[in-house]
Amino acid sequence: MDAGLHAQAYEDTALPIGHEQTISKPSVVARMIELLHKPKHPLGKVLEIGTGCGYQAAVLSLLADEVYSIERIRPLHDMARAKLRPFRINNLRLIYGDGILGLPQAAPFDGIILAAAGLGIPDALLDQLAIGGRLVAPVAKNEKEQQLVMVERMSSQRYQRTVLDGVFFVPLQSGVV
Ligand code: SAH
Repeated sequence: MDAGLHAQAYEDTALPIGHEQTISKPSVVARMIELLHKPKHPLGKVLEIGTGCGYQAAVLSLLADEVYSIERIRPLHDMARAKLRPFRINNLRLIYGDGILGLPQAAPFDGIILAAAGLGIPDALLDQLAIGGRLVAPVAKNEKEQQLVMVERMSSQRYQRTVLDGVFFVPLQSGVV
């Protein structure tokens, strides 16, 4: 967190990380990663959309074999890279780009987690999910409400969707800045 927010860093609350973005509250990060993790299946390769400050990416790197995290705001990508460098996390790749397109060159993913809410789940991400893999995302129901959605890919054509808790995330936006 910014120096000015250090006193709040351990509170279970969303906090600003600049560029009108917020880090999700830690209990929501935990809940989403828990949903991503299929019982008795190791978390192999995971894709995160929305690196932000890099916190969730760092947590994922401790639980999955390989983590790819995409951010569309250049200064946030650069900041996360600089903050995580001293930790020398060798199974984490930070990518500057539009996460709506996913990362076809590294697909398929056993888990995909979105840290920003779209009106639906981008098709590219569903395509890049491994069979048996899970995707966890906040999805906007209308202008005010969002729901956490978990999608499991059952076969090449069949996806099972479960709607869970009400949540509040920053919007998923297309393109890079
Ligand atoms: N996981 C982050 C949370 C950051 S908030 C953390 O631990 O700090 C969500 C982030 O998603 C923002 O930084 C926002 O810029 C980013 N985002 C929104 N739409 C995106 C897109 N299409 N591709 C990549 N990142 C996106």
